[in-house]
Amino acid sequence: MTTLRIADGRVLHPDFSVTESDVLVDRESGEIVAVGDVAAGDETLDASGCLVMPGLVNAHCHAAMTLLRGYADDKPLERWLREDVWPVEAELTADDVRVGTELALVELIRSGTTAFADMYFEMAEVAEAVADAGVRARLGHGVVGVGKDEDAARADHEESLAFAREYDGYADGRVRTVYAPHSLTTVSEELLREYVPDARAAGVPVHYHANETVDEVDPVVEEHGERPLAYADDLGLLGESDFLAHGVHSDASEIALLAERGTAVVHCPASNMKLASGAAPVPAYREAGVTVALGTDGAASNNDLDLFDEMRDAAMLGKHAAADASAVPAEAAVEMATAGGADALGIDAGRVEAGRNADLAVVDFEAAHLTPTHDAVSHLAYAARGSDVRHTVCDGDVLMRDGEVTVFDEAAVRERAADRAAALVARAESE
Ligand SMILES: [Zn+2]
Repeated sequence: MTTLRIADGRVLHPDFSVTESDVLVDRESGEIVAVGDVAAGDETLDASGCLVMPGLVNAHCHAAMTLLRGYADDKPLERWLREDVWPVEAELTADDVRVGTELALVELIRSGTTAFADMYFEMAEVAEAVADAGVRARLGHGVVGVGKDEDAARADHEESLAFAREYDGYADGRVRTVYAPHSLTTVSEELLREYVPDARAAGVPVHYHANETVDEVDPVVEEHGERPLAYADDLGLLGESDFLAHGVHSDASEIALLAERGTAVVHCPASNMKLASGAAPVPAYREAGVTVALGTDGAASNNDLDLFDEMRDAAMLGKHAAADASAVPAEAAVEMATAGGADALGIDAGRVEAGRNADLAVVDFEAAHLTPTHDAVSHLAYAARGSDVRHTVCDGDVLMRDGEVTVFDEAAVRERAADRAAALVARAESE
């Protein structure tokens, strides 16, 4: 056993207590071996002045959309997609997706995120980038039926399932997969009825968007005579390992249904606020026992991938929407970004304790904006930033050490991404 000792810091425990502790990691198994007083390790990571916390989980993302960051803002979802996003995405190449994903991975690692769920295209490139980055991911090829004839739509479903089968367990098991129909209104009922059973037979979970805007609710009610998540349930889309993004407009019957089925919801507060989609009923989900995770959504609707921002936004939006300062407290925000995310994605992490995967973020608290520290959890939710992360560890490997990303040449990734993004937009605008 080769060990890594994360030494002389304070540790955030699963019960949200904080104590001075070391963390010992087995580099080979990638697991946490001990939390407490640890005499020595083969290698040491200095955590003095820092808080060792679970690596953050970004449970709903479209990583390569980093290339569209700041390209188009300030429009509602439907117009933004049709006028700006989809025309550019039509020009995306596999190389663009690779470079955009690498840029996202640098940003995720820099801000202490060790796992993410991605729904996009050219997913083999995303899987390769994840293999290089050393993080964990739940990846799915997003199926969109809008604007396609039946053969093309069918091919899209086949591709989603083929990717899910081929890449599950890739990169030493760090890559797991999903079948990813985009949403209940952009994919036909007929094809969902045909392909969801195939995903079930292959043991592949499902990740999709649901109840993001009212425009995704009313058409389903009109066409099917039932609420979107009742319709999803009829289609077999509320499995225990499934997770849906947004869930902004779920009503009490849908919240109860999610709790009963064990399906998780990924709350994306920044994207929901930016696109004026509404405020998800997070306190009601949590009270009902629904697993709630946090996601940034794509960088084009956020506009960054910093989960610390997302924790703060989740707490602030929750309070504001409920007109109740105790709705979504700091601990709930941190729990959703760590254990909630890990549970939604089916990853044995999200808690700093022996036997779990060593997916960790070491946050430097020696900063003016984190002084004094009356309550470390309060700081994580309300004052810390992604740039406060000093080391990022995943599966026992150090992906960032002392603020230096070890797995990519960051300057080269940024330069390639800027070049690719400029060429991509130029192609789209000359169409
Ligand atoms: Zn999304």
